[in-house]
Amino acid sequence: MSQVERLQWDVVVVGAGGAGLRAAIEAREQGARTAVICKSLFGKAHTVMAEGGIAAAMGNVNDHDDWRVHFRDTMRGGKFLNQWRMAELHAREAPDRVWELETWGALFDRTADGRISQRNFGGHEYPRLAHVGDRTGLELIRTLQQKIVELQQEDHRELGDYEARLKVFQECTVTRIVKDADGKVCGVFCYERESGRFFVIEAPSVVIATGGIGKSFKVTSNSWEYTGDGHALALLAGAPLLNMEFVQFHPTGMVWPPSVKGILVTESVRGDGGVLRNSEGKRFMFDYIPDVFKEKYAESEAEGDRWYDDPDHNRRPPELLPRDEVARAINSEVKAGRGSPHGGVFLDVSTRMPPDVVRRRLPSMYHQFKELADVDITAEAMEVGPTCHYVMGGIAVDSDSAAARGVPGLYAAGEVAGGMHGSNRLGGNSLSDLLVFGRRAGLHAARYAAGLDVRPVVDEGQVDAAAAEALRPFSAEAPEEGAPPENPYTLHQELQQTMNDLVGIIRREPEMAEALQKLAELRVRARRAGVEGHRQFNPGWHLSLDLRNMLLVSECIARAALERTESRGGHTREDWPGMDRRWRRANLLCRLADPTGGLAATDPVRGQIRLEREETEPIRPDLLALFDKEELVKYLSEEELHE
Ligand code: FAD
Repeated sequence: MSQVERLQWDVVVVGAGGAGLRAAIEAREQGARTAVICKSLFGKAHTVMAEGGIAAAMGNVNDHDDWRVHFRDTMRGGKFLNQWRMAELHAREAPDRVWELETWGALFDRTADGRISQRNFGGHEYPRLAHVGDRTGLELIRTLQQKIVELQQEDHRELGDYEARLKVFQECTVTRIVKDADGKVCGVFCYERESGRFFVIEAPSVVIATGGIGKSFKVTSNSWEYTGDGHALALLAGAPLLNMEFVQFHPTGMVWPPSVKGILVTESVRGDGGVLRNSEGKRFMFDYIPDVFKEKYAESEAEGDRWYDDPDHNRRPPELLPRDEVARAINSEVKAGRGSPHGGVFLDVSTRMPPDVVRRRLPSMYHQFKELADVDITAEAMEVGPTCHYVMGGIAVDSDSAAARGVPGLYAAGEVAGGMHGSNRLGGNSLSDLLVFGRRAGLHAARYAAGLDVRPVVDEGQVDAAAAEALRPFSAEAPEEGAPPENPYTLHQELQQTMNDLVGIIRREPEMAEALQKLAELRVRARRAGVEGHRQFNPGWHLSLDLRNMLLVSECIARAALERTESRGGHTREDWPGMDRRWRRANLLCRLADPTGGLAATDPVRGQIRLEREETEPIRPDLLALFDKEELVKYLSEEELHE
């Protein structure tokens, strides 16, 4: 029997970003004893980096806005592949979640008459993003942390212990979900990063809220935590991942200097009036308005510019098309030789706003460029290009309860969950997603735990196996006698390069096949990734464990991308350039090839993932009635239109 320490809680939330904290608050408020575990410092989740704002149809700046318009925009942005019930719940509930944040102490920017201000963003018909300058994520996390502290103070007053009902385990990483003999969740296996100590948190409900996968790509806006852990944990626990081919490349990341390549340049720069130009000075986005959006976007610069002051009588500029469209356009301009000196295009606010307005509305951007690139954005244009930003694919969940499919006791919310954004997420729709579905996940996880007569019992064999798996890098076999084991950093670099070059923004069949081949080789080598030293704060060891997750997630992306023979949202096939209405009804599910959750039993060369196709659920008629028939014809399949 394993000597690993055990702790008992009702709900354990893995991840302390917006989704995890909102889930934890809800679970605790429902009366569940709730543990939150995060691999970074408490308060340093990826959500902190969110800049532009949180989308909610409050109608503060334009009173034509309401949840139906938000729902329509979200479905259009996702090219109708969204799990429509999630898009509906999200649009209906987002305003309440923002107002709730305000009652918990969030200080949003205000309109002249004192309401929460809302700004324009790509794909949103009306100004809809509540914001705090370009530091919205920081305020969101600060507020949620403050709420957690408030709940802990309440517990101290009542029970004499701050951590009686809500405790945060920071700088601890979960490597496995543990289940009982019947396949029910019964906790998580973790290690403390500083000491290397193993422990198990036993809990009948686990909420995964671990964010994204960007660190599998070389150029990314994502922080170090984004190694696809939650996606892999769910797969290994037996839950499928949905539509993993959809990866969002944000159109505007920094391209220069090389050390900061990929860092995000927020979409609010364009929402507030910034324009994109090529090396010839042309506002090229007017040449890239796809047919499905033609009626909604300005035909001339003059009309686009008028829209900022009179949105009711003009159409928006094409710089505010959804992200997938803008990223592809930039890619094409650079490829055609009309790029900026460092391989991007120009994004200019300096000729559009006075310097003091730029500094006030975009303070982080001003400092980011000044300090990292020595560029004064009030006086010159920025150079920008696409960067891997967000994964739309994720754990397949029930829309209402956030329960992961097929694994009792497992829930998922936030970027790690799939379905909400379809094939492409609109800016601002993530922060609202975190709050809407974080709350729902916490609620249902707490109810599930409370409703059990008997708690599932941890299978000791699984704990021993998890401990052995985590220790393997210390005794890795060398590839050949006398040679050192594989270096995890080298493997990571090769993986990132492979995904960037072969499964990136524009995809081709032979390249994806090559990527799968390369991933197979990397998988074999990763089994021999070795580290020196001991378990006390050993980043090489941590990376070797993260590699398992990145390889699993990368294989899911490459396999699903090869399978989907069309271009839609965050999946662009050069060999299948158009959107194919027949694919609208198809979801691609990735499952672990070995259904028992083992990796050793799967053939490391053939692959670890098996793909399944399933038909999407028909969209409810009253929601379809929100769209014009002519628009539906562009998206829906023949049978759907017929029905
Ligand atoms: P996160 O906030 O990333 O939290 C994940 C948590 O999981 C972390 O606490 C991490 O430590 C923990 N974790 C991960 N793996 C493990 C493990 N194995 N064990 C234990 N803990 C683990 N979206 C918007 O809507 N509006 C914006 O303006 C916006 N701006 C953005 C700007 C930037 C620069 C970037 C990169 C993204 C932006 N996004 C924006 C997207 C949005 O920020 C993210 O999608 C969102 O914050 C994800 O939140 P989350 O709660 O799902 O995960």
